[in-house]
Amino acid sequence: MTIEGFFTEYDRTIVDKAARLAEGLILRYFNLASDDWMKNPYSLLTWKQVAPWLRDANVFAQTVRFGSQKKKSPQTDIDATLYGVLLQDPAILRALLRPQQHDLWTLGLFVLTHELVHIVRFRKFQVDFFGSVNELEKEEKVVHGITKEILSGVENMDDLLNLYESGLQI
Ligand SMILES: [Zn+2]
Repeated sequence: MTIEGFFTEYDRTIVDKAARLAEGLILRYFNLASDDWMKNPYSLLTWKQVAPWLRDANVFAQTVRFGSQKKKSPQTDIDATLYGVLLQDPAILRALLRPQQHDLWTLGLFVLTHELVHIVRFRKFQVDFFGSVNELEKEEKVVHGITKEILSGVENMDDLLNLYESGLQI
């Protein structure tokens, strides 16, 4: 793990594993079909993969979207909108240095669960990606509440959940 800047390849494997677990926990929480993520893939992006203007070292991650919500692909009725999670490497790496000593696995699972809950809510709960600041702030609280429910009891997670209780930057 490097302290500043980019995830190493090893960091990326940890983050990918955390994403698999987050996907599974979310399927269970929302009672979704087991192939839901397969049918609605999302991209998991890190600094290495995005243009500098998308990099923001002040937040852990963001949900991003590509494509139009209205357009459906002709063969299927799958929504053509693609979502992605953009992880902000340095913000996450920096947080690992705090005295609470979270590890990348725990913090990664927390951040990814939060972002993937956002995606499910955009896809299935008619939450507007382009909603007003006010709506999006409310949505942050809802997403955090769900994330907390999903992750409470997971090892080392409770401290983190409390620490970021009011963390609207995720
Ligand atoms: Zn959020």
